[in-house]
Amino acid sequence: MTQQQRPAVKPVPIPTPETDFYWEKCQQHELWVRKCNDCNQAYFYPRDICPDCFSRNTAWVQCSGKGTLHTFGIVVRPPHRGWAEDVPFVVAMVDLEEGCRMPTNLVEVEADLNNPGEHIRVGMLVEVVWEDRTDKVSLPMFKPA
Ligand SMILES: [Zn+2]
Repeated sequence: MTQQQRPAVKPVPIPTPETDFYWEKCQQHELWVRKCNDCNQAYFYPRDICPDCFSRNTAWVQCSGKGTLHTFGIVVRPPHRGWAEDVPFVVAMVDLEEGCRMPTNLVEVEADLNNPGEHIRVGMLVEVVWEDRTDKVSLPMFKPA
C-alpha cells in the first residue's frame, strides 16, 4: 500500500516513560505539567529534569486549564493529509496560569486570514478544551474564555 492510499488519519502522540502520566491525565481531561521544587518553575513539555536549573527534584502539578494567548498563527496549508479538511486553523502558544508556555491549537474561533485580530487577540484569556482524537488519546486545546 502506498502512502497515497492510506486513510487521512491524524497522527497521535506516542507516550514515553516520562510522558505516560501526562497522556493518562489528558485522557481523563486533566491538564498536568511538571514543576521544579528547587527553583519553583513550572515547565512544559513534561520531563524529569528541570530545564531551568537542571534539578531532578520535580513533581507533577495539576493545571487550572486557564491561560492567556501568547501568540498565534493561522495555518492554511495542511501539514499532513489528516488536516486537509481543517484548514484554515489556528496554532498557538498559551501561557498557563501555572507559569509555563505550551504549544497548542486555538479552537472555537474564526480563523479569518483577512482580519485575524478581529477574533483573536494576543493576551486574550483562554481555557482548555479537549479533542478526543482516539478512544485512548485526548489532546488539550484552548478556546476563548
Ligand atoms: Zn528548577
